[in-house]
Amino acid sequence: MKAIRRFAVRPALPERLAALETLVGNLRWVWHEPTRELFSEIAPGAWEHAQRDPTALFASVSQERLDELAADDGFVHRANALRDDLERYLTEPRWYQSLEGETPDSIAYFSPEYGITAALPQYSGGLGILAGDHLKSASDLGVPLVAVGLFYRSGYFSQSLSADGWQQERYPIVDPDGLPLSVLRHLDGTPVDVVLAMPDGRSLNSRVWTARVGRVTLLLLDTDVPENDADLCQVTDRLYGGGEEHRLRQELLLGIGGVRAIKQWCDLTGAAFPAVFHTNEGHAGFLGLERISDLVGAGLGFGEALEVVRGGAVFTTHTPVPAGIDRFDPALIRRYFSTDLLPGVEADEVLTLGQEEGGDGSLGAFNMAIMGFRLAQRANGVSRLHGEVSRRMFRSLWPGFDETDIPIGSITNGVHPATWTSPHLAEVAEHAWGTRDTTAVDWRDGAVSDETLWETKRRLRAELVHAARRRVEATWISQNPGGVVPEWVGQVLDPDVLTIGFARRVPTYKRLTLMLHDEERLRALLLDPERPIQIVVAGKSHPADDEGKRLIQQLVEFTSDPAVRSRIVFLPDYDMGMAKTLFPGTDVWLNNPLRPLEACGTSGMKAALNGSLNLSILDGWWNEFYDGANGWAIPTAAANVSPEERDRIEASSLYELLEHHIAPRFYDRDGGVPRQWLTSVRHSLATLSPALSADRMLREYVGALYRPASVAAARLSESGYRRARELAAWKQRVVSSWPRVGITHVESGGLDVTPQVGEMLRLRAYVDLGDLTPEDVRVELVYGSGSAEGELTEVSTLSLAPLAGSGPGRGAGSGGTVYGGELRLERSGNFGYTVRVVPHHPDVASDVEMGLVAVAQ
Ligand SMILES: *Cc1c(COP(=O)(O)O)cnc(C)c1O
Repeated sequence: MKAIRRFAVRPALPERLAALETLVGNLRWVWHEPTRELFSEIAPGAWEHAQRDPTALFASVSQERLDELAADDGFVHRANALRDDLERYLTEPRWYQSLEGETPDSIAYFSPEYGITAALPQYSGGLGILAGDHLKSASDLGVPLVAVGLFYRSGYFSQSLSADGWQQERYPIVDPDGLPLSVLRHLDGTPVDVVLAMPDGRSLNSRVWTARVGRVTLLLLDTDVPENDADLCQVTDRLYGGGEEHRLRQELLLGIGGVRAIKQWCDLTGAAFPAVFHTNEGHAGFLGLERISDLVGAGLGFGEALEVVRGGAVFTTHTPVPAGIDRFDPALIRRYFSTDLLPGVEADEVLTLGQEEGGDGSLGAFNMAIMGFRLAQRANGVSRLHGEVSRRMFRSLWPGFDETDIPIGSITNGVHPATWTSPHLAEVAEHAWGTRDTTAVDWRDGAVSDETLWETKRRLRAELVHAARRRVEATWISQNPGGVVPEWVGQVLDPDVLTIGFARRVPTYKRLTLMLHDEERLRALLLDPERPIQIVVAGKSHPADDEGKRLIQQLVEFTSDPAVRSRIVFLPDYDMGMAKTLFPGTDVWLNNPLRPLEACGTSGMKAALNGSLNLSILDGWWNEFYDGANGWAIPTAAANVSPEERDRIEASSLYELLEHHIAPRFYDRDGGVPRQWLTSVRHSLATLSPALSADRMLREYVGALYRPASVAAARLSESGYRRARELAAWKQRVVSSWPRVGITHVESGGLDVTPQVGEMLRLRAYVDLGDLTPEDVRVELVYGSGSAEGELTEVSTLSLAPLAGSGPGRGAGSGGTVYGGELRLERSGNFGYTVRVVPHHPDVASDVEMGLVAVAQ
């Protein structure tokens, strides 16, 4: 008979083990190795079985064992000491507390997914894991973040393979009661209820789970509550499932419900209301509208409220793939916002914020990225190259400006070292330098011998081989129930063979099957009698993406050939748990996306932190970090070749590198050790680890975005939002006056016919400011190298000043206001310049943001 319902009854913790409750209750155990070691002592076998998840461990450990531990003074003492250490970690001043000057007391971070631990599967890939790492580093650095997401009943799917290699999806239910989550409650014990008005007059209710991620509180909204009708209970059923309206409801809940949850959480805990709101990718963008609604309620106009919200908002865009950007039918948006959902905010105002240009005057789709930019004064991409690509991609939002002017910066992603570095490597560091922080030591200084380093890498490889064999076995059993596991399954992979890893989601642009381009050549590499390679592959395809599933099937088919199956394996159900064994166990991490579609990529970073060398297309982070000695770059084919030709050329470079550079170096031994290889490993560990750390990323977010945003928001809000009101009125005035602004003519002087380096260019520009005054604008000389077509490159600008006595600046025919300036010609070669006028206001982060410009003709 089958049970209709199952739950785990947890044993009662003896009083003397109360510290364990505290330790499990804060997710810091995910990255605190001493705490994990303590958990493992509770029941070593069960710990492995529970996949090193203490909540699962506690559900299985016996009352007798707990009583035994309670009587063990040594254990109790260690548990108490770790609890004290956690208390200290949560309260002591850290990096952020040492910063001089004003810092925001609270920063809100919104993301549709969070990858914090395999035990809380609320992520699908890189975006979620990045969000998890962001919270962990924020915690370590003392950055006062409060994070918001959704609690998905089944998170992302788990993957298995049918006998013919077709991806099968299962959606295991995540039981929040079994996790270190608690319901946010009012003082009288009733759960906090976040309510959103729906178009049909119903309301969408949700409760709020709180998780502690070190010092950071994570609020997760969950609609599976009795107050909701059955269809509304399903709003948070799963991550990235369902149709357009389902997705919209999720995003409304995340953004609008998220801010409402924060308000309640602040009221209940006395925490400061956030000064800065960070939208991690467009999905949470509606949060800005909820804040506008509040400010309109406090007496501001829509435009004034928009200025306050923009000042304190940060928007991070994560994808250069147009299909990766969230878009909605404007009619659907209109329906959801023509309700009581957001008092004081009209549907038309919402639509204007996210409207794509539909061409010929028609309405385009409602685009969450466009709204993201319009609702945030500060925006960034996630690697230098992605910043460039984003400036090109979104250029039309700021017409009339050059790509380099577009106000989108970049902060390159990072990964959380304590989560992603193998404990074995941390032990090596501890032994050699007395610290487990592998990012803070110089791996080249000789403190660790080649022999020790090589022995450690072999151990990591052997652990991967062991784990891979277990997965292959489990897959075989699931496909052949009742059969006897054949011998080859136990012989998959070899702990002494050069090991290449490739694991990630399987959208087409990541080219899972590029390695199969020339199967014969790959086979020869795998089966080389002296210098073989072996490849471990993993990845999930989006459930609706049959193209991706076909790629997986094609790869699985190749791996099932008896001739190669011990040298190449596909491991089903890639997740954080698998990733933690996979990255350290590889020697080379392969990444071959179609450049420039990989915004950053983080798996190669995790590999690098574990002494694995990267072999990648020069895309995302690798484009800025490859230095010729820390791995290999696969050259990108010229832009004008066909897609087929491009694959052929890039695959061929990949084989070439493996055959002639990578394998020979790996197998070049001296006393059994590949000295030259290890030189690269040491160089990569020493130089990349600190740069790839999420700590570096967080410091940049604080310095370049969070602090300036909080300063801007405070300025705009002081004295009853005086500056916000002035700014909104100023913008209106500038927009209506702008058609009359123009440059009448430009005079230059002081130069010979063919000027020499060092000569001065003197300029006068006659500017008609219409109704505006010199305070409202900036007049700039824009100069650089002038190409034959007249395009300026390597552009710089120089502000020109209004000349005394000129003016009046008003009225036609006066010749306008005269601006002047001079520039020393510093370089020989082609030189070109022009003059432009842009609006300028001290409360606007960039002169470009209004998209208004007048250029000399
Ligand atoms: C790091 C990681 C990713 C992201 O990898 P990319 O190379 O950025 O695509 C996806 N899934 C898991 C489980 C990861 O650990």
